[in-house]
Amino acid sequence: MSARGPLRLLIVEDSEKDARLIVRELERHGFAVSWHRVQAERELTEALASEPWQAALVDHSLPGFSGPAALGLIRERDPDLPLIMISGTIGEEVAVECMKAGAHDYLMKDNLLRLGPALERELREADLRRERRRNEQAVRDSAREWRTTFDGVSSPVAVLDRETRFVRCNQAMRRFLGRSLQDILGRTCAELIRELSCTATDCPLCRMWETGSAAGAVHRLRERWFEVTAEPVPGEGDSQQRAVLVLRDVTEQRESLHFLQSLMDTLPTPVYFQDLQGVFRLCNRCFLQALGLAREQVIGHPGAEFLPASLAEILERFHRELRQSPGSQTLETRLELADGRPHEFLLALTSYRGPQGDIQGVLGQASDITETRRAEERFRTLFEGAADALFIHDSEGRLLEANTEACSRLGYTRNELLDMSFRQIEAFEQAGLTGPRLQQVIHQGHALFQTSYRARDGSIIPTEVSARLLKLQGQPVILSTARDISERRRAEQERDRLEAMVRQSQKLEAIGQLAAGVAHDFNNLLTAILGYSDILLRKLEPGANQEFVRQIQAACRRASSLTQGLLAFGRKQPYAPRPMQLNAWLAGMQDFFRRLLREDVELEIQPAAEPLPLQADEAQLEQVLLNLLTNARDAMPGGGRITVSTSRQAGQARITVSDTGTGMDEATRAKIFDPFFTTKEPGKGTGLGLAVVWGIIQRHKGSIEVQSEPGRGTTFQIRLPLSAGIPEPEGSPENPALLRGHETVLLAEDEEALRALLTAGLRDAGYEVLSAMDGRQAMELYVAEQNRIAAVVLDIVMPQATGEEVLLAIRARRSDLPVLLISGHLQDTASLERGAGASLLRKPFTVAELLHRLREVLDA
Ligand code: ADP
Ligand code: MG
Repeated sequence: MSARGPLRLLIVEDSEKDARLIVRELERHGFAVSWHRVQAERELTEALASEPWQAALVDHSLPGFSGPAALGLIRERDPDLPLIMISGTIGEEVAVECMKAGAHDYLMKDNLLRLGPALERELREADLRRERRRNEQAVRDSAREWRTTFDGVSSPVAVLDRETRFVRCNQAMRRFLGRSLQDILGRTCAELIRELSCTATDCPLCRMWETGSAAGAVHRLRERWFEVTAEPVPGEGDSQQRAVLVLRDVTEQRESLHFLQSLMDTLPTPVYFQDLQGVFRLCNRCFLQALGLAREQVIGHPGAEFLPASLAEILERFHRELRQSPGSQTLETRLELADGRPHEFLLALTSYRGPQGDIQGVLGQASDITETRRAEERFRTLFEGAADALFIHDSEGRLLEANTEACSRLGYTRNELLDMSFRQIEAFEQAGLTGPRLQQVIHQGHALFQTSYRARDGSIIPTEVSARLLKLQGQPVILSTARDISERRRAEQERDRLEAMVRQSQKLEAIGQLAAGVAHDFNNLLTAILGYSDILLRKLEPGANQEFVRQIQAACRRASSLTQGLLAFGRKQPYAPRPMQLNAWLAGMQDFFRRLLREDVELEIQPAAEPLPLQADEAQLEQVLLNLLTNARDAMPGGGRITVSTSRQAGQARITVSDTGTGMDEATRAKIFDPFFTTKEPGKGTGLGLAVVWGIIQRHKGSIEVQSEPGRGTTFQIRLPLSAGIPEPEGSPENPALLRGHETVLLAEDEEALRALLTAGLRDAGYEVLSAMDGRQAMELYVAEQNRIAAVVLDIVMPQATGEEVLLAIRARRSDLPVLLISGHLQDTASLERGAGASLLRKPFTVAELLHRLREVLDA
């Protein structure tokens, strides 16, 4: 007590002397006292308010104030303050009164010896009282606190005894059950929560009693989801076990979990979550379907228990890596799935961080890219298999993709091309066009143009490009389809060449026609010159003058063969086969052929010894020789020799034309008879020459062969069937006497000079001549004199009516009248001759020839 300093003592006493006496007594007993004396009520009230006191001594009898009243005041203030009443006179009643008023002891003023021990005892007891009161308060406080806590738990909690009777329950439980405490306590769980009756499949209470340890389950109670846990606790006081039942509302979690699961189940790709131990915690329906598993086989199990070993291994490896360095990883893998087919998967794995940022596991997502891969493969095949070169490039022409065809055509590898731009691929002369073309594609979406590419080896490839603007991964790109048009170009050039040839041959034909026209008129003139010179020759005395006339005739014959050449060139001859002597004919043509050739080309003609009678069209045969000779000449630009020989072989006449020219290789040889095949430069050859030769020989039922080698010259061999008939007498008739006649002949010829010549010639030979100047006159004369007329000589081309018309008119009256047609023209008279039974005499002819042919028809 002294440790706490002097005892603070309040003394209610009217006598200062008595107070000191009291203090001295206490000090004598060992107290250190700090005291204060009051004697009036007001003083007491003030003193009580001013300071905490440790004890009070009150005098019973106070003037104007009473001890019991003072006691009352003090007790009001502090019920535990040690209080001792001191009285001068104290009787039984006073003592009782004092004790009632709250004094702990009382003492007589004259006997203060007991004061020290009494106060000491009182102080001790006051301490004990205070201590007890404090404890009681603490107990009260803790009970209240427990109550508040218990009620403050938001989850319904109850304590149940072995019989599942509710022993305690918190406010949340009361609210949950909707009953008052009185209504709950003592009732069983089955009565209060029907869903938790012990017959329920999974009652955590029952399980807890069975196992003796905590148990839990999720139950649907009162339309919500609760995690129900039961935990054993020792009973209060007695030894009986009790259970704490806690209902935790997990509706929110369950619903969000359900939502999450539904959300995941709608995903078309497998998705899952594995915790740090590799145990699968979540997966969606697609995941289960792909693996052909039930949810129970997956959830709560590590991958190794249900995944194909290879996949489990891969996942395990990735999980390790992701745990060490969190982030994302992707990998492609091929898996055989529940459908029994291999699938290509793209796995995307991401480490999962909880709300606190700690790694809690791995989220996985698998995309089935089988179709994508297949489509990619299909498109790659199409792209690579295209016959055209395909390029994908940007708007600047930089190449992004090129197919195999593009690479092989240009001679670059794909990687080389991908470093290049169109400016490097297009030929130099296209350089300025690349940019504008790209612009066109960008603005119009497409473009079609022709260009040329330059391959690595420098070769130029004419190309047609169809370019299109496309979008690839959101970026504008251009797809250029490039077609090699070299072939087409060649074909176009070939066509141009053929067109040029056709033009050329048309030109030749026009020239031919012109030449033939000139030849016709020229023939008439030559016939007249020949005729008159004939007459002149006969009338002249033998001598020098006769020789001059013969020279005129020789020149005329040369002129005549020139006309034949022109006619041959005109290629207009009809097929008019006639008996002929090949050797004699050839000899006659010699001069004409020579004129065709140049001075530096020698022509040698070697006729066979025996006669070679043929049934042939002389004009056409002439053309055959003409063509062969000009070709031979052309093959000998530096000059040389051409040999034409004839021979008889196996019933055939053979004509051989050889030259010492350049010769031909096999490729050329194979094509020479094709129309329009020529090796000559444009404008020089038509390629028609040998085609015409071929056609003529075919018509004559003959054959033609060629032997040639480069540098060794060329030999053509023609075989023609020998004619079975008696060969025609060769040459012009030498004995005019044999050719005379006396018959009346109708002569129709529009060319006056010729008509006069022929009339004179015929009359000279003894004939009577009726001459007509045109077709109509001829018909009139015939009608008038038909009984006298023995033969008719008809020019074919005449005004008023043609020789043909006149002939038909005559045939209408007389079918057997001998008719001789004379013509310098080129039209086909074969049908006329056959159909109308007439013979043809080609202009120019001599009078002797006319007389000879006229006798023939008259005597036939
Ligand atoms: P063209 O004379 O207009 O070229 P041809 O049909 O007459 O047409 O001849 C075809 C080609 O045959 C000639 O261009 C030439 O190459 C070849 N040829 C014909 N005859 C001879 C020859 N005697 N010697 C060499 N080549 C010849
Ligand atoms: Mg030719």
